[in-house]
Amino acid sequence: MVLYKVAAEILQKVDEKKGSIKTLSIESKYKNIKQLYALVVETLKYKSVLEEIIVTTKLLQGTHISKHEALVLAYDYLFGRGVQCGGRYKKIIHSRKSQLNSALTLIKVKRKVKSNRELIAENCKATFQLPKYLRINTLLTNKEDVLEYFRKKGYTFVSPGVASEIQKKEYMIDGDIPNLLIFHHSTDLHNDRLYKMGEIIFQDKASCMPAYVLSPKPGSFVIDACAAPGNKTSHLASLMSNNGKIFAFDINVQRLSVMDSMLLKAGVLCCESQARDFLKVNHDDPRYSKATHILLDPSCSGSGIAGRLNKLTDDDNSNSEKRIESLSNFQLKVLNHALQFPKVSKLVYSTCSVHEEENEGVVKRALDENQNFQLSSAMPGWGNRGIASAEFPDGSKCIRCDPETNATNGFFVALFERKSSE
Ligand code: SAM
Repeated sequence: MVLYKVAAEILQKVDEKKGSIKTLSIESKYKNIKQLYALVVETLKYKSVLEEIIVTTKLLQGTHISKHEALVLAYDYLFGRGVQCGGRYKKIIHSRKSQLNSALTLIKVKRKVKSNRELIAENCKATFQLPKYLRINTLLTNKEDVLEYFRKKGYTFVSPGVASEIQKKEYMIDGDIPNLLIFHHSTDLHNDRLYKMGEIIFQDKASCMPAYVLSPKPGSFVIDACAAPGNKTSHLASLMSNNGKIFAFDINVQRLSVMDSMLLKAGVLCCESQARDFLKVNHDDPRYSKATHILLDPSCSGSGIAGRLNKLTDDDNSNSEKRIESLSNFQLKVLNHALQFPKVSKLVYSTCSVHEEENEGVVKRALDENQNFQLSSAMPGWGNRGIASAEFPDGSKCIRCDPETNATNGFFVALFERKSSE
């Protein structure tokens, strides 16, 4: 009952453009965030079909449920796990079972499709058909054991190739990021033992790039300035073999507690997390002034990910000019602050935004204001480069990722290094 209620509330807020699905799920206080998030996203994939079904079955008439409750209930009954609750919701769905089934059959006949998945709107398919990327958590296991484990489970190892062409029941090693495996998009390993034990971590390839580009050696002193929910923090700890120190800050207490559980599960021992506004972390404070590496992955419009979710939610709010301007001002402020730490030699700035203003724009402004730093070429062998312009030719030293070219989320990474004369 509670799951459906909370999911319906989130769907309503998404419609009213009151936030992203991810943030709303985390903030909802519903304990199984993953289950909640999956229900909302899956419902949205089928939204147009579900709306048609709700109208033809007159599901809202005489049932006293809202449109958003109807959407999640109809989704779970027709496409999900079947309605998993008792009480009022179960009664409503049971009393309309035959109408719901007939309405779905009719739609499939009309659209000449055989499977339910074919009903997912075209614009959603690209979003959800990125390959599944799994990062091997080298703090708890190693590549050889994981490769052997999946071989024994019946997966066929294929040599590194084009990620988007991977087939069901195949897996490959990524050619760019060490310890990253690629599976077909339909692969579901949420119940897999290795996932439950924290030995493998679902992490989009692009989101593995910041820690990989920063590459702190074991023993380093690192700050992860905007860290939650912590995938990049755990990647940093892996690269450091749990040896050294990571201070992970995040302003959002709830997200930080999700991160703490995640880091515990991943066997991260070298990290101290703090619920703090990074802008208020003093660079002269002896606890932090020793930091040599900073990873800065601040809040952004999420247009690299949400841009595609926007197509599902009709939410163009995240792209409004005013919002981008205010985000880029925040990003510059936090980047300027990070560059003030006296011992920092390397800093990686990243976003999951596709907007130049939040990416090359922020980097250029920061370089203008911090002339003791320069941009270095991040992963020079990576083909998809940042936008270079007459005013900012160094833009091409940055990395860009996008779904069409790279089979990843839209992403941006820049590597700052202190000039050697410093
Ligand atoms: N790096 C994270 C990861 O890989 O899991 C994702 C970080 S997310 C893009 C941005 C984070 O910045 C959010 O968790 C947000 O709460 C946090 N944030 C925003 N403003 C902040 C501030 N002033 N100080 C610290 N954290 C902040």
